[in-house]
Amino acid sequence: MKLADKVVIITGGARGIGKETAQKFFQKGAKVVICDRDRSAGMAVLEEFGDKNRVEFFEVDVTNTAQIEEMVQSTIDTYGRIDILINNAGITIDGFLTKMNEDDWEKVIAVNLSGVFKFTKAVIPVMMQQGAGVIINASSVVALYGNIGQTNYAATKAGVIGLTKSWAKEFGPKGIRVNAIAPGFIETDMTSTVPEKVLDIMKEKTPLKKLGKPEDIASAYLFLASDDANFINGAVLSVDGGLVI
Ligand code: NDP
Repeated sequence: MKLADKVVIITGGARGIGKETAQKFFQKGAKVVICDRDRSAGMAVLEEFGDKNRVEFFEVDVTNTAQIEEMVQSTIDTYGRIDILINNAGITIDGFLTKMNEDDWEKVIAVNLSGVFKFTKAVIPVMMQQGAGVIINASSVVALYGNIGQTNYAATKAGVIGLTKSWAKEFGPKGIRVNAIAPGFIETDMTSTVPEKVLDIMKEKTPLKKLGKPEDIASAYLFLASDDANFINGAVLSVDGGLVI
């Protein structure tokens, strides 16, 4: 995969899948720009990278348009282009519908769905000028089969598939590929509060009989971002050990 010198923005890059993805792109020689709302976690990630010339952290909340636009402009000022955008930031606020209040609904929509809309809207003009670019959005297996207690989360992740396919059609003619990844259960902070019993059931339901690791998703992001995937557009790549077969 030729990713050396590519400029990649990764949202939610301070922890979990985003952090692993940032490290993999960095190892491939890419110029990595991460954002996260947790400054101390972001600075800790920077410390782990050797060459500080090829990595930058921005304290940005993906719900905040002004912060996004500032980060995108600063990246263009530094590197002159943006080759890859990975809309990875996401949150869960789970609960049965009867107990889910409107605030829990709005907050998850704001990050997981509107955040993807806002970031992509900020990045798309430069990609159109370039006549090239790759956008990858984080969906989830729950978008494909639903999940008890995840009304808000499943709705956002299904929405991400809808916008991914729309943008694949809208921007394909401009040389921009747009795809989504639908991870199964991955061992990160996000799933650390899921009861052991539920995780065991998920493992049992997964043909590969295990949970995924952040590097499994990071590798899929890398593949879709690379020229090896240059005829893949509008796809939803399940990376779930076969869970949704
Ligand atoms: P984590 O919770 O481990 O990491 C998510 C990162 O996103 C955190 O660093 C978090 O920061 C950041 N983030 C959250 N909200 C915002 C925001 N408003 N602005 C900027 N950054 C933000 O999650 P994962 O690594 O597990 O998940 C990554 C993506 O993959 C998500 O979109 C998730 O929905 C998706 N996914 C994950 C699965 C899993 O099993 N883990 C399964 C399917 C999909 P902070 O520390 O401040 O919260």
